[in-house]
Amino acid sequence: AENLAQVQKNINESCNKINRDPNEVTLIAVSKTKPVEMLKEAYDAGARVFGENKVQEIVDKYDQMPSDVKWHMIGHLQTNKVKYIIDKVSMIHSVDSYKLAAEIDKRAGAKGITMDILLQVNSAQEESKFGITTAETEELIHEILENCENIRLRGLMCVAPFAEDPEDIKVYFDEVKKQYDQFAGIEHPHLDFKYLSMGMSHDFKVA
Ligand SMILES: *Cc1c(COP(=O)(O)O)cnc(C)c1O
Repeated sequence: AENLAQVQKNINESCNKINRDPNEVTLIAVSKTKPVEMLKEAYDAGARVFGENKVQEIVDKYDQMPSDVKWHMIGHLQTNKVKYIIDKVSMIHSVDSYKLAAEIDKRAGAKGITMDILLQVNSAQEESKFGITTAETEELIHEILENCENIRLRGLMCVAPFAEDPEDIKVYFDEVKKQYDQFAGIEHPHLDFKYLSMGMSHDFKVA
């Protein structure tokens, strides 16, 4: 509860600095590897959005947590595992190929739902990270819009490189924001950009 309050306070302070309404910012409690007891503590302290990066963990935790929890898949997702989480998560942050998008589209269609997705952009082009380049993003968006009926593109996600001083990686957040802005005004039944998923514990203030 104390950590959660501290993070929220930091979000509020960062928003105040740039005259931004802190209510526009969603704090995602990244609960991967953490036991359900700890998630319940966070829930009791007000957390409602939880981020996980393993399919099996979402499946295990899903039934043990209250039904008003929103689960976000933030980690690399294998095509053959989409079916296990399609009716459990409210957003998939880590779409990085047309093949994955097509599978999400197919599985969402079978359940009669529309899945909100973000495209994972690796703006620093780190070998060790998943994600498409900013150059590939536009093409993937067009491919998805042409072919996928059961997906709504809601924005972009970026995991920046680690830096001792997060100010040093501002440029990577800037690049993704710039690309986000190119699509943010567009009205389309399957594209409604509203989310930039950026910032981890050590760099969220800069993000
Ligand atoms: C683990 C993870 C986070 C949270 O990292 P912390 O450093 O624990 O805040 C955020 N985003 C993604 C994509 C992650 O995998």
